[in-house]
Amino acid sequence: MLNFYPGPSRVYPKLPEFIYDAYREGILGINHRSPQFVDISKTCVKQLRKKLNIPKDYSVFYTSSATECWEIIAQSLIEKKSFHLYNGAFGEKWHDYTKKILPAVSGFKFDLENAIEVEKLAISGDSELICITQNETSNGTQVSNETIQSIGARYPEKLIAIDATSSMAGLELDISSADVWYASVQKCFGLPAGLAVLICSPRTIERALELNHDQYYNSLTFMVEKMKDFQTTHTPNVLGIYLLMRILKSVPNIKVVHEKITQRFEEWIEFLGGFKTFDLFIENTSVRSQTVIPITAETKVLEHIKDLAEKHDIIIGNGYGDLKHQTLRIANFPAIKRKEIRTFQKFLKKSFN
Ligand SMILES: *Cc1c(COP(=O)(O)O)cnc(C)c1O
Repeated sequence: MLNFYPGPSRVYPKLPEFIYDAYREGILGINHRSPQFVDISKTCVKQLRKKLNIPKDYSVFYTSSATECWEIIAQSLIEKKSFHLYNGAFGEKWHDYTKKILPAVSGFKFDLENAIEVEKLAISGDSELICITQNETSNGTQVSNETIQSIGARYPEKLIAIDATSSMAGLELDISSADVWYASVQKCFGLPAGLAVLICSPRTIERALELNHDQYYNSLTFMVEKMKDFQTTHTPNVLGIYLLMRILKSVPNIKVVHEKITQRFEEWIEFLGGFKTFDLFIENTSVRSQTVIPITAETKVLEHIKDLAEKHDIIIGNGYGDLKHQTLRIANFPAIKRKEIRTFQKFLKKSFN
């Protein structure tokens, strides 16, 4: 089965070996306060820093999902109000979810085909934190490092939080340009679901300690305390952390991965552009996501493509949210093998050209 679903997605082929190692080494039953766990966790954090080029003064935490990160940010880093910039279903969910916790939350929905016009933004003085979905998995658009940098330059006093769930570990992100970054591992990390990584700037930690919200098991203040010893507030996904550590050890630096992904992306765009049966969904080349590539056609045509692909043991991503019937999405994630892409493209060419 070839898996081009943009999350949960194709896992790295080395995974079965690592899972077996975990079993053999007794990792599956270790205590999360034990020196063995601390060792794994420490190595994992070290690898995250090294492979993703995380600035030295930033802190790294484990959570169970990106959704949990939405909750942690709302409960630990905002007193009254955040401001959400979004153009698709995941950014909107983050906004809606935060609004349930903090009713004063506001946002701006920007156009799918246009980059955020930073000079035209009007974010109120009382918004403490700006939320941006860097790679909108639902529609295949992305916010560039440069745009995030200019938002930071325009609002230096506000914290900036970035959902990078479908780009972290696939694309090179300028971590220093924002305060909070997070991603769950079932997308570009090429791992099974059930774990996420949360990265925070020094002033994010200061803010959490200053607000001192401590009502929840996953309040950031508790997480900071526990992470001093590379531990978590609860029994974490130990296997997930072990697998993350092993996968990170086996992959090159994000600069190298980024090259691979952008090159494959260019090839995908050129290839998909040659079809009459369907079109690329996003027209503006400068806002296209390089890791999630949506195509569009009439619903019937899309259903046919998807069904026929399934008959050939190829999974393509459904449309998501409002775009469910308007698009199909193709993951361009690092764990996918070149050979698999070739097989998929051969199938598309044979069936729809
Ligand atoms: C997949 C995804 C999420 C949700 O991730 P969970 O691990 O299910 O919480 C959030 N944001 C984006 C951009 C995503 O792609």
